[in-house]
Parts: sequence; structure tokens; C-alpha cells
Amino acid sequence: MEILDASAIICGYKPKKKAFTIPEVTSEIKDIRSKQFLNSLLKKRILEIKDVDEKTIKDTKKILRKIADISKLSFTDIKLISLAISIHKKGENVVVVTDDYMVQNALKILKIPFISLLSQGIKQVYRWVKICTGCKKIYPEEYKGKDCEICGSPIVKKRISKN
Ligand SMILES: [Zn+2]
Repeated sequence: MEILDASAIICGYKPKKKAFTIPEVTSEIKDIRSKQFLNSLLKKRILEIKDVDEKTIKDTKKILRKIADISKLSFTDIKLISLAISIHKKGENVVVVTDDYMVQNALKILKIPFISLLSQGIKQVYRWVKICTGCKKIYPEEYKGKDCEICGSPIVKKRISKN
């Protein structure tokens, strides 16, 4: 199973396996092209939206607090990691598709596999995106701002490599 974060959807990543995301991720998708892409994945049932219960989120926070600085993780990040943990616990294979460095770091410590779209040149990705030169946050191509809304670093346009 794969778990997609917002950057995976903005990049146009097509999951190879059954994929899941959380409601908060879908509400982060604001540009029209990414929204259309998201809807097509949902319609084809390649992607399914899954919610995570309060208790699982609480438990995840507890685990994360011991291993990482969770002040840098958003609620969406923590919930996404919660979903990964709950699937992982059931003994299912799960891979999280994310370009968020803080999320990747937490997953690394939790020993949950992840793939990064920008650094690994995933083949199913075809899109131009904008990326922050500081924190590497991914924005849709249509994003109008010149600086990152998170860290203020300049944003550059990049085509995701097809190795
Ligand atoms: Zn940034």
C-alpha cells in the first residue's frame, strides 16, 4: 500500500499499488490541475481517503515526541504518519510518498519506508512544479508567490526528472 501526501498529488504521482491519503491532504490541494488529478485517482479507486481516529493520533504523538522534534510537524503530517503506523502495525507493506523532509525523518526513525519524488526521479511523475530552495516544499506550477510561505526562501521551477 502507498500513502500519498499533498506533494505527491501536486507532482501528479500515479500510485502503483492501492493508495490512501487523509482528508486533510485533499483540502491542501487547491490548484485546479492537481484537484482534477486527485479526483481522477479517487474516481478510478486507485486512491482512497482514510481517516485516523483520535487515539491513534494521540499514540503517534507520544511515539514521535520521544524520537523527534514534533514542533516542526503539522497536524496533517502527524496524521499521515499515524495512518502509516496503523497500516504498518497490521503487518501490511506500506510506503509513504512524500517530499517533506521532516516527515521523511520521522519515518526513517520509525522504520517505515518512504519514497521521495524529486530526489529519486520517479517515472510516473510528469509535471512541472515549483520547489522551495530552502525547505523543499513543493508548490503547483500555477503558484504565484516568489517566496516560500513556510521559510521565505526563493522558489524555483523544476521539471521532475524521468530517469
Ligand atoms: Zn521553504
